Amino acid sequence: MRPIVGITCSMDEESIRLNTSYFRAIEEAGGLPILVAILQTPESLSQLSELLDGILFSGGVDIDPKHYNEEPLPNLGQITPDRDELEISLCRIFYEKNKPIFGICRGAQLINVALGGTLYQDIKTQLSNVLKHQQDAPAHAPTHKVFIEKDSILFSIVRTEILPVNSFHHQAVKDVAPVLKITARASDGVIEAVESNDDRFILGVQWHPERMFNHYREHFDLFRRFVEECARRRKRG
Ligand code: MN
Repeated sequence: MRPIVGITCSMDEESIRLNTSYFRAIEEAGGLPILVAILQTPESLSQLSELLDGILFSGGVDIDPKHYNEEPLPNLGQITPDRDELEISLCRIFYEKNKPIFGICRGAQLINVALGGTLYQDIKTQLSNVLKHQQDAPAHAPTHKVFIEKDSILFSIVRTEILPVNSFHHQAVKDVAPVLKITARASDGVIEAVESNDDRFILGVQWHPERMFNHYREHFDLFRRFVEECARRRKRG
């Protein structure tokens, strides 16, 4: 039986939307992807969290800064309050249940905020001398490097201290959540990966491996490890 992996998506009043590459990556990595959206009752979230072996928080628009006790700055982008509420609740439930959590781009930021951290609302205006983090190159093309801590889940997966990545973000982690640690940065200091402080599987990456996994083994291996952890921890539980 494949582990069942929930994938969150963009949503508004009328529709839900997810890039197909998230589904392809999880299925090719051995998981059974399930779309997670909209749910409004605590009972639904609780039942869903029992059904799923792990959750992937996907990319999307900005997180409302009220969730980290800030007022909106002029360069804050679009926000989706319903999605924020759903994902923050789910992240905390999966944390409590010690089930694997993987976050991509907005998803990495979401994990950090849900567990008590903060974000830069706009790195270009809040930090000086930042790299180009919103690339105009094709989505699969790496445009900057990330520098990875050796003592990390991330290093154990990609087995390199310097990894070329793509980049499509204008926000980033500012203060890391107490239960997380920083395990990769770009050369300008921008945080590019966070993960669990303890033996939970929680990994957030600021780049988009789902757009790179067809081209580069290291980025496919992120999905493979996540799915393996979903399977392994299901058996143990
Ligand atoms: Mn970047």
